[in-house]
Amino acid sequence: MTNTELLVALIAVAVVVLGGGAALLVRRGRGELPPPRDLDAITEEYIEHPEHPEPHLPSEDEEPPFEEVPADEKDQPAAPAAPTTTVERPEPAQGRLVRLRARLARSNSSLGRGLLAVLGRADLDDAAWEELEDTLLAADVGVGPTTELVDRLRTRVRVEGITDPEAARRALREELVALVDPTLDRSLALQGPEGTPGVVLVVGVNGTGKTTTVGRLARVLVAEDRTVVLGAADTFRAAAADQLSTWGQRVGVDVVRGPEGGDPASVGFDTVKQGLETGADVVVIDTAGRLHTKAGLMDELGKVKRVAEKQAPVTEVLLVIDATTGQNGLRQAQVFGEVVEVTGVVLTKLDGTAKGGIVVAVQRELGVPVKFVGLGEGADDLAPFDAEEFVDALLA
Ligand code: GDP
Repeated sequence: MTNTELLVALIAVAVVVLGGGAALLVRRGRGELPPPRDLDAITEEYIEHPEHPEPHLPSEDEEPPFEEVPADEKDQPAAPAAPTTTVERPEPAQGRLVRLRARLARSNSSLGRGLLAVLGRADLDDAAWEELEDTLLAADVGVGPTTELVDRLRTRVRVEGITDPEAARRALREELVALVDPTLDRSLALQGPEGTPGVVLVVGVNGTGKTTTVGRLARVLVAEDRTVVLGAADTFRAAAADQLSTWGQRVGVDVVRGPEGGDPASVGFDTVKQGLETGADVVVIDTAGRLHTKAGLMDELGKVKRVAEKQAPVTEVLLVIDATTGQNGLRQAQVFGEVVEVTGVVLTKLDGTAKGGIVVAVQRELGVPVKFVGLGEGADDLAPFDAEEFVDALLA
């Protein structure tokens, strides 16, 4: 055998051995492939059938259907997958307080009824005024505003000679409206300087409804045809970022998030950056509200604000307060007020308390207006606050 013949023979042997091995590997590989119901197959099927409203998961004994792809289409780029969720059109914010007034009236009826019952008496003696005072205090109006309201009403009843219940009711309504203060500016500051987006920081104790508020606020803004970017800077609670992503997806709003346990300030920074780059109208940032120590909170929140402001100024700081926590919630809220300059309050869960007077106490204690109230767990149950509508619901 010549050298050349030897070489040819060696190559032939190698081809046979390698080929066999490769075939064995392929077989092994095939043998290790999961059964046809694997995730890839299901995903493939779903992309092939974008008209499915929900991913169709075949049952145990059902074979996933495959369609034969014509040879000339095999190398074509895949058509973009159809969006799997439909984007919702949220309800306009205007008029929501009127729509939800029944919930407010239901939970506050003891306050309104109590006040009207006392004022309806023929003889308004000292005991009656005291009772009025107690009713207001029990509804969390607070000592200062309660004394103020009773003194003013008492004077009016005497000076104006009010005797009939309807006149007394009108006087009470006027005084309550004055106490809630219709002159306060309750609009959101969303105008950044030089075309920068409005930047809203949402702060508050965990569990008050902060993340829910950010999600609902996005809906309010989308309903006003504003473009929005949300930031999940509560990186300590993985569920908060997921929760926010779901809110965002529902109305087609981008959500910026960081790694779990990552730096909240960098999420704030990235969110405003994305808002600037995409020309968004408003950026809303959710924050963590762990009240471990005041110093810790101060560091964290202060840093989120400072770092976000490297991109654009924060135009609105909304403090979320759970109305059912009463005076205790108010004290916690005061700590936040010392850490960041709060410009507005969102009072959540007002549907779950008969102590609607907290609206007055919050504004007095914190010196900032209530701008929104939460009146249920529904996506559009966040209503812009209005003093007159609120009082009318109380007295309904
Ligand atoms: P966070 O920890 O402050 O971010 O609180 P979440 O946004 O997770 O809300 C805590 C709970 O409060 C959730 O179950 C919300 O559905 C509920 N919640 C928020 N706002 C309201 C409201 O206005 N009314 C009622 N009844 N529940 C609310």
